[in-house]
Amino acid sequence: MRIVYTPKYDLPAHYLGRGLHPFDLRKYSRAYKLIREWFGRRLGDLTIAPPRAIHRDELLLVHTAEYLDKLRAPAYLAQAVEVPLVAKLPAWLTDKLVLRPMRWATMGTVVAAREALAAGLAVNLSGGYHHAKPDGAEGFCSYADIAIAVAMLRREGLLGENRRIAYVDLDAHQGNGVSHCFLHDPRAFLFDVYNAGIYPAYDRLARERIDCDVPVWPGCRDDEYLGHLHDRLPGFLDSIVRGEPVGLAIYNAGTDIYAGDALGGLSISADGVLERDLFVVDQLRQRGIPTVMLLSGGYSEASHRLVANSVRRLIEKHAQPFDAT
Ligand SMILES: [Zn+2]
Repeated sequence: MRIVYTPKYDLPAHYLGRGLHPFDLRKYSRAYKLIREWFGRRLGDLTIAPPRAIHRDELLLVHTAEYLDKLRAPAYLAQAVEVPLVAKLPAWLTDKLVLRPMRWATMGTVVAAREALAAGLAVNLSGGYHHAKPDGAEGFCSYADIAIAVAMLRREGLLGENRRIAYVDLDAHQGNGVSHCFLHDPRAFLFDVYNAGIYPAYDRLARERIDCDVPVWPGCRDDEYLGHLHDRLPGFLDSIVRGEPVGLAIYNAGTDIYAGDALGGLSISADGVLERDLFVVDQLRQRGIPTVMLLSGGYSEASHRLVANSVRRLIEKHAQPFDAT
């Protein structure tokens, strides 16, 4: 198992301010620090830092050039990340403060996907920008890291052209950007449990693309949520492993399903989030599918602790060489 992380993932809270958006701009480093408190320096043996941010030619594997140019305009970016202050800053500064950390995180997802193929399981402590479309940013997502990672692995020959992708999205919001990126790609199989009463409920095309569509409603609690997951995920995975081999699974593990999250609208307990994460990774590992886990959304003060808890248990369970040292 590998953890992919760099302090460069954090957005500079002192510039953008807290409270402008419910997003914890330092969720990534706070989660990593907590995990390091448990494992000490040994965590370094499992940690890989992305060597650089993603480049424009790599973004162009999924995004249009027109879109990447449009993203440079602070007014457009402000709308996408839902922080009005961003519209008032010069373009060079918004690139540095907002987009560059996301380009590091996107490279982190690519590195984590490569590591998943080599080690079986990798967690990128950021990424999961599941609302980003080939030609548009929304919902705090600028770069379609999931589709970019898949495209890069295919280009590098690490993932065969016919290999299937299992995408499991358990963020509270429907992963509409991922649906659009894979709209005409029959090699990607999409499983999505989401709150049907919140954004992006209008995106019908995205919902129709989901292969296993599991909408839940606001206030959904542990029993119902985990019941759906236990009922539907094993059958979904069994159905896709029967065809061409599944080369990679991407698990978008948003913690905004947690009760009290500012945006998710669901009522899942901390124990429920942990049970969910362990169940999904177990199901994928049982079937021998290389798995990359991404953080995606999570807008409560507890988000970094929920992430750290799950990663801690995954390390204890799946990092055997680590335990032996
Ligand atoms: Zn979300």
